[in-house]
Amino acid sequence: MCLLNSTKGLQMMAAEDKKRVVIVGGGIGGAFVAYSLQFVADVVLIDQKEYFEISWAGLRSMVEPSFAERSVINHTDYLPNARIIASSATSITDKEVFVSDGSSVPYDYLIVATGHKENIPKSRTERLGQYQAECEKIKSADTILIIGGGPTGVELAAEIAVDFPEKNLKLIHRGPRLMEFVGVKASQKALDWLTSKKVEVILQQSISMQALSEGVYQTSGGETIAADCHFMCTGKPIGSQWLKETVLAKSLDIHGRLMVDKHLRVRGFKNVFAVGDITDLQEIKQGYLAERHAHVTSKNLKLMLAGANESRLATYKPGSQLAIVSLGRKEGVAQLPFITISGCIPGLIKSGDLFVGKTRKELGLAP
Ligand SMILES: Cc1cc2nc3c(=O)[nH]c(=O)nc-3n(C[C@H](O)[C@H](O)[C@H](O)COP(=O)(O)OP(=O)(O)OC[C@H]3O[C@@H](n4cnc5c(N)ncnc54)[C@H](O)[C@@H]3O)c2cc1C
Repeated sequence: MCLLNSTKGLQMMAAEDKKRVVIVGGGIGGAFVAYSLQFVADVVLIDQKEYFEISWAGLRSMVEPSFAERSVINHTDYLPNARIIASSATSITDKEVFVSDGSSVPYDYLIVATGHKENIPKSRTERLGQYQAECEKIKSADTILIIGGGPTGVELAAEIAVDFPEKNLKLIHRGPRLMEFVGVKASQKALDWLTSKKVEVILQQSISMQALSEGVYQTSGGETIAADCHFMCTGKPIGSQWLKETVLAKSLDIHGRLMVDKHLRVRGFKNVFAVGDITDLQEIKQGYLAERHAHVTSKNLKLMLAGANESRLATYKPGSQLAIVSLGRKEGVAQLPFITISGCIPGLIKSGDLFVGKTRKELGLAP
């Protein structure tokens, strides 16, 4: 028998003994799984960027760049005991993940959390610089066109309307109502609020992407909109394109979402989980639900790592249709289970700090 009598030796043995858990995607779902498992497994987080970002705080950061200092967090700050690979995953077999930096990472357990694909900078410093540049763009424009009336377009229009009330704001949306992911009442309340702030909302029209340039914009209805600059706030594609040629291809539904069982394991696999917006769960796609997926998945992985019986695995129950859209710093629209409200109460819940302090605390950081 070999006896290890140094601390280093013991630590090495522990690392070697631990099962490898690979997490692909460092948004809210992936970040919380990695945070929760980093001391019980050999955790590797593969994310296309070096940082985790509280995504819905980005619109505040566009009008107040210093806000991003707390909402853009290097992965290494909350993951002292995990390995980070800041590169895109390109493929998966039943044993390993291939990464665009040329490496391949074997896994015992895999979690796919690549919610949405976005072209954003790789480093935190570049991301903070981007917010600075976007704020300058807002400040130097008289007329601003926002393209897309989903939650991003609405929240951005509201941030600008509150912080820069002198700006002339126009929002164009292809659909018949704003924010189609929530009910009609919430859409109407957001529209009424924007209109009250003199934002011109143009529905059922789009802007031709081919002829997109600052200055003059052609709408699908043949109208011309003059604006000094624009912001694209159209939906981001689901981050599953890269899975289409992989061992998980048959587990994708027709919308490109990963089909999961009640334990959040990808259908057809015992050791592969999915969390967050990429899952096919019948619920609104929200970060607080991605966080809940992460808790159920972490619990199940801890049980599996301890050799627990399948019958002990935790079950996930899809969430309600709850959503809060912030309207500037003090107001909002909340769709609750039986009522939709707007004004200061939803504002008090979300719009001040946008859950940044809360999320930071949950990741073991100062709020
Ligand atoms: C304007 C707006 C406001 C919102 N407000 C709220 C709110 O108040 N509360 C709330 O709970 N939710 C809110 N949401 C929803 C919330 O942002 C999402 O539900 C949440 O971000 C989903 O998290 P996720 O981890 O599944 O995916 P994402 O946040 O999309 O993260 C996916 C991660 O995977 C990475 N990735 C993608 N492909 C690859 C690859 N091939 N290799 C490596 N990495 C990859 C990406 O870089 C990213 O880091 C809001 C959304 C919007 C647009």
